[in-house]
Amino acid sequence: MNIIMFGPNGSGKGTFGAIVSEKFRIPQVETGVIFRENMAKGTELGKKAKSFIDRGELVPDDITIPMILKRLQEDDCKNGWLLDGFPRNITQAEAFWYALQKEKIKLDYVIELEIDKETAKRRIMGRRLCPNDNNHPNNIYVKENLPVDKDGKLYCRVCGREGLLTRADDQDEAAIDKRHSIYFDTKKGTQAAINYFKERAKVIQVDSRPGVKIVSKNLLELLT
Ligand code: AMP
Repeated sequence: MNIIMFGPNGSGKGTFGAIVSEKFRIPQVETGVIFRENMAKGTELGKKAKSFIDRGELVPDDITIPMILKRLQEDDCKNGWLLDGFPRNITQAEAFWYALQKEKIKLDYVIELEIDKETAKRRIMGRRLCPNDNNHPNNIYVKENLPVDKDGKLYCRVCGREGLLTRADDQDEAAIDKRHSIYFDTKKGTQAAINYFKERAKVIQVDSRPGVKIVSKNLLELLT
């Protein structure tokens, strides 16, 4: 099963991507996570990506596209993949579609999570990262993902780890607005990429404003 998941920052791509990835036993390939891991390790890729990420801008296509195509050739992607955070503009969409055609790889589903900017922004600012695992969901504004609060200190709701962190680009409203403007750009941005796939693949749209349980149920029902 090969899936692309679209959704503005704060729509829950990480959370719902993990649920879909578990159901179909396919890896969730997140461009943002790959970049952040490279930044944390201080690799050349991480150094090149950092200034763009801090400003909420896209890392240039000539870095991002080859990085993703290489990642999808790794062993764990042999039975499928769920792409989260890529493609993010029309150039990436076209390059990716071309690569899929060339390798005769079928794109089974394109998921579009729908949410308004204000709700998404609140979710972004409420996000807290567990130092043990970035995929442990903690969010001070999402009822189902509240971290554990003991005497005013926050602990990871999954593993109990103390010292939850925030991403710098999540607390910077200008960077959030920049990311959203790229997403909602119908000419060259992510909306343009979604429209491109609407003519080429099965696109499933899900309202991601309700709680995690309802959205997961609605989403899984559509992915048969
Ligand atoms: P995310 O974790 O999806 O919010 O991504 C964090 C940041 O990584 C974005 O704001 C971009 O700077 C960069 N990034 C993630 N995915 C892409 C992509 N497909 N193309 C270019 N930059 C990206």
